[in-house]
Amino acid sequence: MAKFAAAGWEVVFDAPGTGYDAVIINTCGFIHDASQESINIILEYAEARKRGETGKLCITGCLSERYKEELIREIPEADIILGCDAFDGLRRELNLSATFCAPEKRLLSTPSHYAYLKISEGCDRKCSFCIIPAIRGKHISRPVESLVSEARMLAGKGVRELILVAQDLSSYGTDLYGRIILGELLEQLSEITNIEWIRVHYAFPAGFPEDILKVMAGNQKVCRYLDIPLQHISDNVLKRMRRGINRKKTLELIDRIRNRVPGIVLRTTLLTGYPGETQRDFDELKDFVSNARFERLGVFPYSHEEGTWAFDNLNDDIPDKEKERRAAEIMEVQQEISAGFNRQMIGKEIRVIIDSEEDDHFTGRTEYDSPEVDNEVFIDKTGNLSAGAFTNVLVTGAGEFDLYARATGRKKTPP
Ligand code: SF4
Repeated sequence: MAKFAAAGWEVVFDAPGTGYDAVIINTCGFIHDASQESINIILEYAEARKRGETGKLCITGCLSERYKEELIREIPEADIILGCDAFDGLRRELNLSATFCAPEKRLLSTPSHYAYLKISEGCDRKCSFCIIPAIRGKHISRPVESLVSEARMLAGKGVRELILVAQDLSSYGTDLYGRIILGELLEQLSEITNIEWIRVHYAFPAGFPEDILKVMAGNQKVCRYLDIPLQHISDNVLKRMRRGINRKKTLELIDRIRNRVPGIVLRTTLLTGYPGETQRDFDELKDFVSNARFERLGVFPYSHEEGTWAFDNLNDDIPDKEKERRAAEIMEVQQEISAGFNRQMIGKEIRVIIDSEEDDHFTGRTEYDSPEVDNEVFIDKTGNLSAGAFTNVLVTGAGEFDLYARATGRKKTPP
């Protein structure tokens, strides 16, 4: 986006309506639902292109990397179909003039007070259900200096919260520096003025970067929040998923994280209906969810993806309805757990960042919640607050997945 802007184009993200010189749809092809969402958007713009209401239709990203031939055949309205590394192709096809801009330059597609920082690309792991290594290639870390420089630039533009993402964040640094240096990266990012929160997503459990625990426990800017996708707990399933970790090691890791970072909030994601998941495996998963009491949790029915090890070697033997039923059952357990955690917050004063202002309330988030996926705090509309501001609120009510609060006017949480 920044390169297009450098070439003199006006770039609009997630733009409604028609009348553009070019529409670039950057697709996701990770699992069936994501592919379907991409296809729906492509079809919407293909219609507009057919009616002559918009300029060149360009499709890029993972879905077109995976299914280029099929898209060429099925979407004749598309002018340009490229894969993941699409920029040079777009530059040629759209006749972009000078496009030099520093690699750290960004145009944000998020609200201006938070930004995702992608610290590496690709993945060397071999999870049986995952197509990402085939699409994105080998794990390549970005140098610390480049990330710090990008984060500084973002802070200068008003970003207050950095959300670290990667396909395999736990391996950050191994290819470039010969060891995992995620903790050091967090320390360096936390020195940037005006960055107040740094959040870690997608930490793979096998080979977990334990150095980050000390930083999380001791550094005020690093959120005591960790997204650690576990996928399952039964040894039978974990083994067939080729996750490189078993039940015992997973439980020990969770204990270690909670002991070393008191008050940490854990988020995980799980899969139901993986090939061969027996009722017993599923019951084990459900018990695990009840006992481990993750503060945040998402669950997805397994999607049998062409090109994965599981697709080539295992039978997708559980009907979709059953996969969904199992996912719903897990979510029912989690609903109770989440409601319990939220009830405990009533009467407490907490610090939030304001995400948006609605007609009758402000919407905010705590240090323990990531945008889009976690809980929100709905705050009475009294006083002057604006997006990106940090403020203290008193929690007055709780739902299953959200909190209700009023502002106290204080900026800092009392010790
Ligand atoms: S670590 Fe994540 S991206 Fe890599 S193979 Fe496993 S699930 Fe896929």
